[in-house]
Amino acid sequence: MGKYYICLDIGGTKVLGAIFNNKREIVHRIKKKTKAGGDDSANIENTIINLVEELLAEFKISIKDVIAIAAGAPGVINIEKGIVLFSPNLPWRNYEIKKAIEGKFKVPFFIGNDVNVGVYGEWKYGAAKGLTQVVGLFVGTGMGAGLILDGKLYTGHGDKGAECGHMILNPEGPKCNCGQRGCLEAFSSKQGIIDYARTQAARGRKTALEKAIKKGVLKSKDLKAAYDANDAVAIEAVDRACLYLAIGIGNLINTFSPEMVVLGGGVIESMGDVFLEKVLKDVDLYCMPSIRDTVTIKNAALGDDSILYGALAMIDDMLKK
Ligand SMILES: [Zn+2]
Repeated sequence: MGKYYICLDIGGTKVLGAIFNNKREIVHRIKKKTKAGGDDSANIENTIINLVEELLAEFKISIKDVIAIAAGAPGVINIEKGIVLFSPNLPWRNYEIKKAIEGKFKVPFFIGNDVNVGVYGEWKYGAAKGLTQVVGLFVGTGMGAGLILDGKLYTGHGDKGAECGHMILNPEGPKCNCGQRGCLEAFSSKQGIIDYARTQAARGRKTALEKAIKKGVLKSKDLKAAYDANDAVAIEAVDRACLYLAIGIGNLINTFSPEMVVLGGGVIESMGDVFLEKVLKDVDLYCMPSIRDTVTIKNAALGDDSILYGALAMIDDMLKK
């Protein structure tokens, strides 16, 4: 009889894996790098399989001790069938990952969109515990979102919805990875921040973000360091990101009247309360006072583990079905 759960956070550059015991505590964890873009789907599948095998070996248990495995991954994912339809950062198209992992390990496997799963984790175990209407925005390389409506995870028709990061705030704004212009993501994600810094550097302004601009990759901790060192370009980029984030959140508050808006993801995690404080300062200007009055805006409580806890919650729900 199994008594452990394995939960995974599959990203474009890393896979995080953890073993939970039946008291819902993380008892062992591993982080592995994946090559962004360059890998084929088989390589990432192998990275996941190797990570699960390493977790088992290092914690000295066998797959027979595991009740189920679950994961969050970026992209459009059919939860019921366990198929990754499309992923912007992973080479997966109509990829039947449930079939592949269950075929290998012979235990149930579940997968959902990473930020949907992360917000689910914050709802079941973190900042939004016990509430029924929750909007979550995760600021990272992109801008993911998750919605808890009437006490349930809302993913829309075919699990393709809740893409709040791609609400268009200015159709003539900067280009977004989704192909549109002026999405919330294009202003307020790391992509938006680095694009702004690049424009300023091209005008001859000096900035500590120059290295990141050249590499095309901005680490959250480098953004934090530049911001703390009073780098003018970094401060402007963060101010701009937060202003648009406040506008986006204002729209979401008006639309859903949530009890709570949870901010999570790598940037929020690294920047401490910087984003939260700026958003709180501006958001009242962009939503109706009577709706704003009943919303709490908070940072995520589980930090980098939101997705792992959400995957655990997903196992509980799926096994009950
Ligand atoms: Zn977009």
